[in-house]
Amino acid sequence: MNNQQIIDDSAEVFIGTYNRFPAVMVEGNGCRLTDADGREYLDFLSGIAVCALGHSNPAVTRAICEQAGRLLHVSNLFYTAPQSRLARLLVDNSFADKVFFANSGAEANEAAIKIARKFSSPGRYEIISLEGSFHGRTLATIAATGQTKFQEGFEPMPEGFVSAPFADLEALEKLITPATCAILCEPLQGESGVRPLSREYLKGIRQLCNQHDLLLIFDEIQVGMGRTGTLFAYEQLGVIPDIMTLAKAIGNGLPLGAMLTTNKIAAAFTPGSHASTFGGNPVACAAGTAVMETMLKPGFFAQVQKIGAYLNAGLAGLAGQFPQLATGVRGAGLIQALILTPVGRELGADIINKLFRRGVLANFAGNSVLRFIPPLIVSEAEIDKMLTVLSQVLSDLQP
Ligand SMILES: *Cc1c(COP(=O)(O)O)cnc(C)c1O
Repeated sequence: MNNQQIIDDSAEVFIGTYNRFPAVMVEGNGCRLTDADGREYLDFLSGIAVCALGHSNPAVTRAICEQAGRLLHVSNLFYTAPQSRLARLLVDNSFADKVFFANSGAEANEAAIKIARKFSSPGRYEIISLEGSFHGRTLATIAATGQTKFQEGFEPMPEGFVSAPFADLEALEKLITPATCAILCEPLQGESGVRPLSREYLKGIRQLCNQHDLLLIFDEIQVGMGRTGTLFAYEQLGVIPDIMTLAKAIGNGLPLGAMLTTNKIAAAFTPGSHASTFGGNPVACAAGTAVMETMLKPGFFAQVQKIGAYLNAGLAGLAGQFPQLATGVRGAGLIQALILTPVGRELGADIINKLFRRGVLANFAGNSVLRFIPPLIVSEAEIDKMLTVLSQVLSDLQP
C-alpha cells in the first residue's frame, strides 16, 4: 500500500486528534526515514526528541529482540533484571537515590505530583508551574501545564495548580502560600519554543524552594537523556532538583517514563501508594539500558556538544542571511531553534511544509520558532544538507 491509500483509510477510523504530515513512515535508519512511496527524509524531529540514538540503532534493537525472546511482561508483582539494571544506571548517574517507572512523560509527571503531595504535610498540595510550560495531556498534567489552550473544554480542572509568569521570580514568590508544596518546571521549555530558563532564574527558584520548604520538580522529559549535551540538563545549571521526570529518549522509541527522587522523599510512597501495570516493562527497560550504556561511553556527550554548536552556528548563519524572517538562534546541545520574526511566524507552518516536501523534517514550535531536535548521532554532513534545504526554502519565501 502507498501513502495515499493508508492515509485515506486512516481518515475513516481515527479520532481526529492529530494534524499529521501526509506520509506513512515505514522504515528508519540513523537520521533517515523512508515512507510508503519510497521517499527519504532527513529527520530533525526524532519522533519528538525520542529516537536520540537514531532509528534502528543496532544496540537498542539487539537488546529489545533478546529481551522480547525471553520475557515480555510479568507486572510489578515481580522483579525483573532489566528494570533493576536501568534503575541502578539512573541512580548511579544522577542526584537521585530511587526510581519509579511509568510508560510516558505524563505518567512520570503524575507520579511526581502525587509524591510531592504525599510527602508534604496535610493541607500543602498546591504546585506552581510556569507559563508556557508543557507537562503532558492527562487531566492533572494539563492543569499543571501553563497554557490554557490545552485546558479549554476539559474543565473543571483538578485543583491545586497555579501558573506563574515566565522569567519573573518576584511574581513567582507572590504565588507561594501556606498551601504550596512544590514548584514544577522544565529547565528549558521545549514545546513552547525552546525557551531556556536562565541560571540566575533557576537558582532563584531553588532558593525560594529552600526558603519556603518546597520541593523543586524538574521535568526533563524532553531535555534529559543527553539532549542538551549532558545526560541531564540540570548538570549544567548549578541547580539540583528534588524530583526529576524523564521519558521521551529514555527508551529510544519504546514507551518508558521515570520519576527519580531522593531517599527522603521516596519514603513517602509505600506499597500500594502508587502503581502501574506496564511501568518498567522489561523490554522497554532493556532498551533503556542500551540507551544509557551507549550514552555513558566516553566522548558521547562531548560529541553532542560539538555537533550542537555546529548546528547552532549554521542556524545563526541563516538568521544573518534572512533577517526579514529570522532574528537569531537559541537552544542547548541538540535542541536548537531558529527564532522567527513576526513575518517569519506568519510563514512558520509554510516553511515546515516546504521543508517536508523537500525531504527535511522539523517543526514549528510555540508559534515562534523552527525547532531542530535531530537524533544525537547526527553528522555534520547531515546538518549541512538540512541547512542547504532550509536556506533554499527561506530564500523562496523571503519577502
Ligand atoms: C513530551 C513532554 C511531556 C509529555 O510526555 P508524554 O510521553 O507525551 O506523556 C511532558 N513534559 C515535557 C517537557 C514534554 O516535552
